[in-house]
Amino acid sequence: MVVPLKQTAKWLKTKFSGLIRSSTPPDGSARQDAVTPTVIARDGHTISRANISRNAIRVLTRLNSTGHEAYLVGGGVRDLLLGREPKDFDVATSALPEEVKSVFRNCRLIGRRFRLAHVYFGREIIEVATFRSNKQAAEEGERHVENGMILRDNVYGTLEEDAQRRDFTINALYYNVSDFTVIDFADGMSDLRNGVIRLLGNVESRFREDPVRLLRAVRFAAKLGFIIDPETESPMQRLAPLLSEVPSARLYEEVLKLFLGGSALETFEKLRHYGLFGQLFPATEEALSHEDHDFPITFVNRGLANTDARLQQDKSVTPAFLFAVLLWEPVRLGYEALLEQQAQPIEALQTSAGDVLSEQTRHISIPKRFSYPMRDIWQLQPRFEQRQGKKPYRLLTHPRFRAAYDFLLLRAEAGEVETELAKWWTEFQQANSQQKQSMTDQGRRGRGRRRKRRSNKNKRKNPSDE
Ligand code: ATP
Ligand code: MG
Repeated sequence: MVVPLKQTAKWLKTKFSGLIRSSTPPDGSARQDAVTPTVIARDGHTISRANISRNAIRVLTRLNSTGHEAYLVGGGVRDLLLGREPKDFDVATSALPEEVKSVFRNCRLIGRRFRLAHVYFGREIIEVATFRSNKQAAEEGERHVENGMILRDNVYGTLEEDAQRRDFTINALYYNVSDFTVIDFADGMSDLRNGVIRLLGNVESRFREDPVRLLRAVRFAAKLGFIIDPETESPMQRLAPLLSEVPSARLYEEVLKLFLGGSALETFEKLRHYGLFGQLFPATEEALSHEDHDFPITFVNRGLANTDARLQQDKSVTPAFLFAVLLWEPVRLGYEALLEQQAQPIEALQTSAGDVLSEQTRHISIPKRFSYPMRDIWQLQPRFEQRQGKKPYRLLTHPRFRAAYDFLLLRAEAGEVETELAKWWTEFQQANSQQKQSMTDQGRRGRGRRRKRRSNKNKRKNPSDE
């Protein structure tokens, strides 16, 4: 059941004090249009309290009982309405960050650009954001804008104003835990039903304000299987270069959300379609755009499909492996070029990895705790070629063996190394000590035989040498 505002004016007046602006502003300018929200009662939507995290409900009821407005908003509401399990629960409130902190002992205030309260319950964090507003900042420092890009946004407002500051219509739905209603200011319900990602407000300026919204549009389209509304979509490719202005630490966080959310392959293809992938990973985009037509590079696609499959099976995925996959193409090309110049494999790989990484970290800052293991994964690759003597045993005990072996399997799948090599390593791990012994001996004997055959052949070719 949908209850339009007109019918519930009295109820709304008490609920959202200060929300409906009907008077002429003091400066005499034309009245800003009051946005009429649609309030959807419990029997008109599918959100059940039973599916909401108990901790989120605790936060909402506690804020309400201490005299603040508080709603569930964002992905939690969106995903519940779609019958999906939300990744996390976000709360929007009229309480200022300091007020939130005073209500919860287990609370920390974070973020300078966008001040937020994190309320901790063991491993679960409920993110609580104070209603934001578009209005002029009263004090310098509350909002900081440069070239249309918002660098700091801590101007607080009402629920209605907050709804306008959200990114997409489907993310601007508010769930009120005290009466089980959903409040929809932007026709988000109809976009949810129709599977549409639509940016709120003036598309160009909203993307300019925060270019990360370009990535978010793609992420939600891929994750939910939605289309991006044509008006929202039309400037995306043109505005893609704006991503270069986004701090590399923020892009790192966004990349994890893009590729570790379970729809990495779909996201990757869409990012490439809008020219966004090249902004994030220029060297990889360059390598992919020069792919040899006889040998299409499928390594990244396979790696991302594999990441999605692992998440589906509840297996772990690490940022180190993900970045190793995303950056391997340029690393491999650089490595091969150096090998052609007669460089030693280990050094060639080290050099190429170093070059690619130092270029990449100008765009996305990869923390050292992930870039070190990532380099190990690459660096171990040539060592898989050595299958005789003690070396395979040593490789097996390397702390990064498992990840490097998974990486080798992907390379074999992509046709980059012989499947026989990957198969050998699979068998070697499963073999008992006697079998292991014979596998590594065979390698030695095989090499010995090969060497002998080669020298016999040479003798036949050059009989005069005898
Ligand atoms: P997810 O399932 O990934 O958590 P989400 O929509 O909840 O999706 P969050 O990053 O958790 O995404 O943000 C919560 C909400 O905050 C969003 O739904 C949106 O309303 C708002 N929001 C987040 N980032 C932005 C942004 N860059 N611009 C405007 N609003 C944003
Ligand atoms: Mg969220």
